[in-house]
Amino acid sequence: MEILIKNGYVYDPLNKVNGEIMDIAIKDGKIVESSEINLRKAKIIDASRKVVMPGGIDIHSHVAGPKVNTGRIMMVSEHYRSYMRSHHPLRRSGTGKYTPSTFLTGYRYARMGWTMVVEPASPPLKTRHTHEELNDIPILDKACLILVDSNRILLNYLDRKDHDGCKMFIKWLLMATKSYGLKLVDPGTAVLWSWGKGYGLDVDDKIEPYNITPGDIIKELCKIRAELKLPHPIHLHCNRLGIPGNYETTLKTMKYAPADDKVTLHLTHLQFNAYAGDSWANIGTGSETLTKYVNANNNLSIDIGQIDFGTAVTMTADAPFEFALFHMARWKWTGIDVESEAAAGIVPYKYKKKNLVNALQWCIGLELALLVKDPWRVMITTDHPNGAPFTRYPKIIALLMSRRFREKMFAKLNRRSVKRAVLPSIEREYSLYEIAVVTRAAPARLLGLDNIKGHLGVGADADVAIYDLNPEEIDFSKDYQSVIKAFKRALYTIKSGNVVVENGKVINDSCSKTFYVDFKSPPEEQFLNELREEFKRWYTIELANYVINESELGHAKPIYVGG
Ligand SMILES: [Zn+2]
Repeated sequence: MEILIKNGYVYDPLNKVNGEIMDIAIKDGKIVESSEINLRKAKIIDASRKVVMPGGIDIHSHVAGPKVNTGRIMMVSEHYRSYMRSHHPLRRSGTGKYTPSTFLTGYRYARMGWTMVVEPASPPLKTRHTHEELNDIPILDKACLILVDSNRILLNYLDRKDHDGCKMFIKWLLMATKSYGLKLVDPGTAVLWSWGKGYGLDVDDKIEPYNITPGDIIKELCKIRAELKLPHPIHLHCNRLGIPGNYETTLKTMKYAPADDKVTLHLTHLQFNAYAGDSWANIGTGSETLTKYVNANNNLSIDIGQIDFGTAVTMTADAPFEFALFHMARWKWTGIDVESEAAAGIVPYKYKKKNLVNALQWCIGLELALLVKDPWRVMITTDHPNGAPFTRYPKIIALLMSRRFREKMFAKLNRRSVKRAVLPSIEREYSLYEIAVVTRAAPARLLGLDNIKGHLGVGADADVAIYDLNPEEIDFSKDYQSVIKAFKRALYTIKSGNVVVENGKVINDSCSKTFYVDFKSPPEEQFLNELREEFKRWYTIELANYVINESELGHAKPIYVGG
């Protein structure tokens, strides 16, 4: 299929295009020169007075795997109210408002103009399930990160200071699970949780019975990531999440990032790790200290983990935190142990505007986005479905673009929280160009996929969003409602050169693929023999059954790396 998008205001930060009126030509799923398409055959889209951007990329959103599925089951009452009928042959049916089913996940992202999502926390043992669900999510390109923060085999290597063994194991694990990168959640905590401990483990505390600390795990895995030349930096959920005063732990953790001019450590949903004070009563914001450090150090990037008010479903491999939250929320809880690899907890939660802590959390997320000066190192997330469903992105975009909108919100919030927050004193408003950076270009670069994703230059995948928004006529600061409206329903979403959304409606659900890293040289036989023995000791399944074949991925897209 050939498409010519004519006369749109194009926002393409990776190619330094800032709202220029341009044509974008598409052929065989890729962006091409306009001269390369046959104008008599091509579909012409008139984008005059509209905004054209690359498709959105979500760097951190829990959309697939056993934890997400358990969340869906826990929120079954919501399914009744959010049922979407099938529309044969255009789309399948689906349910779920806060933890939507796989099909609905794809459709809702595409409707907003998003074309790729990263599932950030898959226990390796359960990654077959994760891939089965990722295969089911239509339209979007996908990738998953595996949890390696509390893996017993890995911790044994680390404890023995066996760097080569550790590296070989990580390489094998990525190949065996067809994953894209490494995720650390509260390193070491799940080990302690096996004995009912682990809540509040700090970055320099010892992880009994091992002679290592969370800091050692972070340092060693950052080194291995660099040696294996993995495209995405270590993706870290810091220790002591959700505990007042945790910003000091976060600051200490930031210092473990290897020095470099490029990002070596990504700190995810930082809002949950940016609290000052030492109790829920005197909780404050740590955003200024943390962003000051991020601004001074190019080796760090963050995503915000913004909350929005209303129901959310918190789910994390930080199992002891969820157990503590269960006692605060007094609603529902699930705790899961994944053999010798990880743990998880799930607690549905309601964020309230008049609650001091919740209102302050809301302020802190926006403070982080507005105080980090370099938009290439900050990304918008809600840690879906933890802070809010991903469908709130249009609202968050509008809040970043409009001080007036933020001020209107202050009147509805807990008054003490507004006094303690820094947000009221921040005047900055994001430009549309900066929005294109934080939702498209920056995540593509952080994934190491910026040669084909997150831009509209020749050779890029033809993932494009067109929004009904005229930047010449609309003052985004005043008319933030039109920003929300435009981003809620894209005029067009084009995925791999196919029109998948038109006038906010899904009309085609094909063309998704799953990225994973692969290596040209497989691990040595001797290492595998040793590992087979380890599996007999530690696992309920044989090593051979653990390995996921490429044929188990819907449309596999390996990225070969060096090392
Ligand atoms: Zn998360």
